[in-house]
Amino acid sequence: MAECPFCSIALGLSDTKPVAESEHSVAFEDLYPLSSGHTLIIPRRHEADLFQLDKEERADAWILVDTVQQLLVGRLSPDGFNIGVNVSETAGQTVEHAHIHLVPRFHGDVEDPRGGIRWVIPDKAPYWD
Ligand code: 5GP
Ligand code: ZN
Repeated sequence: MAECPFCSIALGLSDTKPVAESEHSVAFEDLYPLSSGHTLIIPRRHEADLFQLDKEERADAWILVDTVQQLLVGRLSPDGFNIGVNVSETAGQTVEHAHIHLVPRFHGDVEDPRGGIRWVIPDKAPYWD
């Protein structure tokens, strides 16, 4: 078993199976999903920092985000999405293998969804107040 949980998945050594794959990237369901269909898109290569991927890897990962978005639309008909990347521990990254969160959103899933990803810094999120 690879030490990095996401490398394990990319190498096919985990019980978690990919939902989509491409040349340089793999997509799989988050083990602790924020919503139904919450999916992570990772580069196959172990690299913590998304900004350190080369152009080809990065383009490939974002194309796989589009592919997964289409799968989720077909499967779950969500009303919206949040897309997020935590880059570094300071920014909240807990698994040191770069990943893009694709989080389907459903009408009424939270009482007041305004601000979305602005809530990474809760004190500053509600600019409309
Ligand atoms: P981060 O905080 O690094 O941006 O997000 C890490 C994400 O990985 C979290 O949403 C968490 O639920 C997910 N996660 C952590 N360990 C595993 C694992 O072993 N398998 C899967 N599929 N997801 C994981
Ligand atoms: Zn890894």
